[in-house]
Amino acid sequence: MKVAINGFGTIGKRVADAISKQPDMEVIGVSKTRPNYEALIAIKKKYKLYVPRDKIRAFEDHGIEVSGAIEELISRADIVIDATPAGVGARNKDLYIKLGKPAIFQGGERSEVADISFNAMSNYEKALGKRYVRVVSCNTTGLLRIISVLEETFGVRSVFATIIRRGADPKEIKKGPINAITLDPPHIPSHHAIDVQRVLPHIPILTVALAVPTTLMHVHVVRIELSKEATVKDIIEVIEKAPRILLIEAEKHSIKSTAELIEWARDLGRSRYDIPELVIWRDTISITNGRKLTLVQGIHQESIVIPENVDAIRAILKIVTKARDSMRITDENLGLKRWW
Ligand code: NAD
Repeated sequence: MKVAINGFGTIGKRVADAISKQPDMEVIGVSKTRPNYEALIAIKKKYKLYVPRDKIRAFEDHGIEVSGAIEELISRADIVIDATPAGVGARNKDLYIKLGKPAIFQGGERSEVADISFNAMSNYEKALGKRYVRVVSCNTTGLLRIISVLEETFGVRSVFATIIRRGADPKEIKKGPINAITLDPPHIPSHHAIDVQRVLPHIPILTVALAVPTTLMHVHVVRIELSKEATVKDIIEVIEKAPRILLIEAEKHSIKSTAELIEWARDLGRSRYDIPELVIWRDTISITNGRKLTLVQGIHQESIVIPENVDAIRAILKIVTKARDSMRITDENLGLKRWW
């Protein structure tokens, strides 16, 4: 299947690399609007680069080879991954409609942009054959993974999560805070709860979010009331078997922070030190009253949604009809959960 990547930034470049590792799809080109270092990297990685028609000359003046205008890229594709900045995707939708192409949007877009908000573990089958799918944001993806895995075995009655958000991505020089803890957003619930319910409408959930001066990862403190009683051992067994969730031992491995997690990923030689898995600190898993589970989890915001974008392609084009089958292909080819 021929995939066009519209927007080659934090998410787009990672999705392009992930697709290049899959046996059933190929990247036919990526787009950029500015002739910056990311455009140079695209060329170095042998991706064909497409740009707005009126900017072709500007790119060529920078010595960057251009394969054509963005419309040409879209018209040659079977499907488009739109990874442009929040809000731009909705404006691009007219072009996808005009050229008759299905598209995948990102979590920064309003949910109305797509037929369905998506997480592979939660609602893959509902996305089969849909025209427009929105992969939910990084925090929502992390929440949906743990809720869906626990729901399958124990049932979930309600969820409360405190979300400690990174202030900016590492490359973002104009965002903050740099010396504050900010209510982000300044109301409860934060949009994450609403987004979880767009995918799992029956789950009662409340979220509160605060932004802090760090760029590495988000951290969540999650409280889940289960329908059935469970022990800590039961929970660990289920999480160990689940795809896309890693258990880390804070004491034993001496990984008690996002900084050490990222250092671990760097030492492991993971591309861009990415951690597409949801990380759960095993030591934090605790149960009170038989049913109230509390745990702390970490989300690498730049990479957690990447496998979901790959699965969304298979769902829309009905290449694979079962969630677990698509996830297995994606994860094997990305080397997920292989970590020592
Ligand atoms: P980004 O700014 O890093 O990348 C966006 C890219 O799109 C840039 O390369 C830019 O040059 C390009 N672009 C801008 N306007 C364009 C246009 N009109 N046509 C084609 N390309 C255009 O942004 P990002 O962080 O990758 O975010 C993309 C989307 O993914 C947003 O919806 C965001 O909310 C979502 N998302 C981001 C993160 C994260 O942590 N960065 C995590 C999950 C989801």
